[in-house]
Amino acid sequence: MQPRSELCCECEKRVTEKKCFNCHFHVCEKKKCSMEFPHYNMTNINICSSCCDEISEKFKLVINYNDLTLLKEKIKIKKQIQEA
Ligand SMILES: [Zn+2]
Ligand SMILES: [Zn+2]
Repeated sequence: MQPRSELCCECEKRVTEKKCFNCHFHVCEKKKCSMEFPHYNMTNINICSSCCDEISEKFKLVINYNDLTLLKEKIKIKKQIQEA
């Protein structure tokens, strides 16, 4: 299947074959329209700036959660050392 070129959903000026990985709307490679992220198998994915805002919010949550889990692990290890 050939990728179809359509109008970028962000600037609505440029025609592009790239699609946002999240919402699947066409989005051009201009910095203010999309962000490029490395993906599996050396490919890149594009995320439109609207989705980027949305996703970065989630990213923050994930990062905070991981930090918290890490902190708890550290406390647990410390306790084990003290008890040993
Ligand atoms: Zn654009
Ligand atoms: Zn999008």
